[in-house]
Amino acid sequence: MISVFGSANMDLVAYTATAPKRGETVTGRAFATIPGGKGANQAIAAARAGAEVAFIGAVGDDAFGPVMRETLASAGVDVTRLRVAPGSSGIAHIVVDDAGGNSIIVVPGANGTVTGPTDGDLEVIDRSDALLLQLELPMEAVVAAATRARVPVVLTPAPAGELPPELLAAVGLIIPNEHEAAAITGLSDPEESLKALLDLVPEAVVTLGSEGSLYGSRSGARLRVPAVPVTAVDTTAAGDTFAGALAVARAEGMPVERALRFAAAAAALSVQRKGATTSMPARPEIDAALR
Ligand code: ATP
Repeated sequence: MISVFGSANMDLVAYTATAPKRGETVTGRAFATIPGGKGANQAIAAARAGAEVAFIGAVGDDAFGPVMRETLASAGVDVTRLRVAPGSSGIAHIVVDDAGGNSIIVVPGANGTVTGPTDGDLEVIDRSDALLLQLELPMEAVVAAATRARVPVVLTPAPAGELPPELLAAVGLIIPNEHEAAAITGLSDPEESLKALLDLVPEAVVTLGSEGSLYGSRSGARLRVPAVPVTAVDTTAAGDTFAGALAVARAEGMPVERALRFAAAAAALSVQRKGATTSMPARPEIDAALR
């Protein structure tokens, strides 16, 4: 089983020819509400990849809360420990213009009310093979979960920010993309950055988009796994799909290289489809892609 302690957001996306300037009103072309948030994305990716998954987090008591809950539950994620906080759910208010530019306001809402895992949450976490964390909950909550969990902790350090030493000390595997890796280590070369990450945590994967990923461990292992060559339609949540699938593969005991290929196959399937939670592949698709 995999536990995810993280964010659930509703993305509110307005598509328009040109984004409005201050004081201006424009008529948009289309609007979509898309469930997301890195925590929910990783939970759904892991469930579709074949694991039992428990999601721990919070939604608001607004209209989006039940939608988020249902989205997770219908992907097979256990939402018993998803709380309802007074006020709004986490939302990302996104304006996409015809030039492909976007502007985004993220309102943490209910995610911002999470202070840390309860004793009941920890009982679930400690029955898991791994705990997946990201950085869209308050840092004190992420640190509390990482330091109190007794199972391997996998951190996706996004959005990039300062990482407290006590958090890093509790992480077994970190999965930054190359920009997050550079932000943490101050080194832009991914190989150098990977080396520096291994001074902080025992294992690291630096993801490189269509260039694949680099893996390293303190025991000296190094691997470069290529991405699966595909035509990308929408790379939203490629990283979350990769992290969720990788956690499942490791929980099943796959050797590292096979686990990385499994994660790359899942992420490559997701980039060929639109959306975040809507694009994540089911286990039979991943297995078929690996054959
Ligand atoms: P995002 O922020 O879009 O969720 P990310 O920046 O966290 O993604 P990336 O490094 O872009 O993460 O991608 C993660 C993994 O997904 C890559 O290691 C690769 O295996 C796969 N991937 C991403 N983009 C592509 C692509 N265009 N074609 C094939 N695989 C891809």
